[in-house]
Amino acid sequence: MLGNLDSNSRITFWKHLATCKPWKCHPALHRNDVSYDKLVGFTIHADGAQMYSDDEFFVYSISSVFSSEGCTKDILLVKIPLAIIPERQMRSKDVRAAVNKVVADVTAWSLKICTSGVGPQRGFYNEAFPEKSYRHGLSGKILAGGWKGCYVAFKADLKARVQVHALTRNYLCNLICDRCLAATGDKCPESMYYKNFSHTAAWPLTAIDHEMHMQMDTPSPWSVVEGFNFESLSYDWLHNVYLGIGRDLVASGILVLIEHNVFPLGADLDETLGNVHREVRRTCAKNGLYFPCKPQLTKANVGGSDDFAVLGSRFKGATVKTLIWWLAVTSQKVSDQRPTEPILALLATCCFWMQRSIHIQDRSGLTFSRITMLVKLGSLSSSTSGRMWIWLPATFPTTACCSRFAIRPIT
Ligand SMILES: [Zn+2]
Repeated sequence: MLGNLDSNSRITFWKHLATCKPWKCHPALHRNDVSYDKLVGFTIHADGAQMYSDDEFFVYSISSVFSSEGCTKDILLVKIPLAIIPERQMRSKDVRAAVNKVVADVTAWSLKICTSGVGPQRGFYNEAFPEKSYRHGLSGKILAGGWKGCYVAFKADLKARVQVHALTRNYLCNLICDRCLAATGDKCPESMYYKNFSHTAAWPLTAIDHEMHMQMDTPSPWSVVEGFNFESLSYDWLHNVYLGIGRDLVASGILVLIEHNVFPLGADLDETLGNVHREVRRTCAKNGLYFPCKPQLTKANVGGSDDFAVLGSRFKGATVKTLIWWLAVTSQKVSDQRPTEPILALLATCCFWMQRSIHIQDRSGLTFSRITMLVKLGSLSSSTSGRMWIWLPATFPTTACCSRFAIRPIT
């Protein structure tokens, strides 16, 4: 729960958090009776989970933000389930919404007591505790030796995010984003089209913050949690990079390297990709990294020449992470050998910055130091440079091999 951090690290963390917009007004950080060295931050996670075949469950869990700094391998010691509900009992939309509301309300009540650090006089339903019961014995007493806890962030993939926070603008609608007014569909103006990354795009100017969300949308059922902020619903690296733009970058990058005759050519694309796969495994083994022999890189799961390139869904996040590292090393080497080819230089640059920001996140602690922060700003964005590769044809519509890229010019 405390992740082997000392009290100074906790104090530094909370002082830093209190300067960041989503937490500036968090009530728990401004209470006179809260001391930062005895405060634990919690993240709430919601996700679907298949525990038996044909039987899905929806799981709400809570964990400490400090536990990532510890060395506990057993996830059940750092991630505590709050509620596990069978999907078959939430088939109707109304039932699902009602269940979610109750879980949110109980969690909010519980966290409030956690922040006060004092046992409550009555229960969640305002019921009296039976005399001599454990809870009755805790009434009015200091809990957990004076330690307190509060909400910090919410974790969910897009599907759970939409379900749990009842988002009307979401990835299944024409208004596809809950944090801005980007759109898709036949009637969408070009300036609001979510794949438009040129200077004519207007949607980047329409970011929606917490205050706007509370006014213009139906507030999330979880806004009852003390310190809840729409901007603290986090987007994670796994879904956005390893299972997101990383899959596009790796697949199109490999195909571009193949087109530039970097690897021994086989009789067909499948055979060539087999050669690439062996090359990846060799380089990884030399550097002490594990790379699985399956799934194989094939035309079908890289996206052959007649379709845009994206790694198949059988590749796990960890495998894509290793492939990003390998592509960064390889494209850099090739580009150094052939300095006159701009597309190779661009690929190397994009991969370098994506790998660089992965490296920074892996190596840093709870907060970035000033130095890493500056480097991070430079790379900020692997995001930007990684995406620059993905959006290449959208930015420079005349670039050759457009079919390699997930996002193509608007036609
Ligand atoms: Zn958006």
